Amino acid sequence: MSTTQTLFDQAGHKNLLLPDFGHGLAVQANQHLIIHGNEGMILDPGGHKVYNRVLGETTGLLKGGKLRYLFLSHQDPDIIAAVNGWLMTTDADAYVSSLWVRFVPHFGLDRLVEHRLHGIPDEGMVLSLAGADLLILPAHFLHSAGNFQVYDPMSKILYSGDLGASLGMDYDVVPDFDAHLQYMEGFHKRYMTSKIVLRAWVNMVRNLDIEIIAPQHGAMFKGADMSKRFIDWCESLECGVDLLEGGFKLPRRT
Ligand code: FE
Repeated sequence: MSTTQTLFDQAGHKNLLLPDFGHGLAVQANQHLIIHGNEGMILDPGGHKVYNRVLGETTGLLKGGKLRYLFLSHQDPDIIAAVNGWLMTTDADAYVSSLWVRFVPHFGLDRLVEHRLHGIPDEGMVLSLAGADLLILPAHFLHSAGNFQVYDPMSKILYSGDLGASLGMDYDVVPDFDAHLQYMEGFHKRYMTSKIVLRAWVNMVRNLDIEIIAPQHGAMFKGADMSKRFIDWCESLECGVDLLEGGFKLPRRT
């Protein structure tokens, strides 16, 4: 049984990776919690299967503090399916791309909490967590059309959502970048949109001081050097529409 991992803990600011509560067919997903002072932000809280345990763990870690924000990097079910439960049981405000605000209620959003689902403008924004600024960075088409990441300047952690995701290995920190490629290459080539978009993202994040890149699935890139290896890899990756040579063909009838 995994336990909560502390990624950063200084001056009343904590970055925590919750235990892995997923199982079965459901894709493995990481739930991260940022606490500053007496307020917290949960990132990509997940679906119904993990909801009870993620909520319980979060409440315990907040130690009487308040869950201030639910950050939703995009609209996929592994991120958003349990949003109604979170809004009904906490006072948090949820933030998702303004593109998805009208779609999320199809997961079942109670009228009482609808006004606490907020749209993030395309250019991103800054959210204040008890006075600590968190940067909500645009990362559209990586992979969703309305897609955001979070950079925390205090811990220097970039929460990269599906970018950097890996599946199928048994470690949670990347030990060897080249050996790790087999677990993330296929996913990135199929889910990420194009090298033009990746380069736009690379140009933005090269301006950040990064100690950890923490994706929503799989292992983290720890340390400035390992984080740079990942960013460099993104800069030259062909993916999505870059690989669509030959276009689509009709399926064959048997
Ligand atoms: Fe996704």
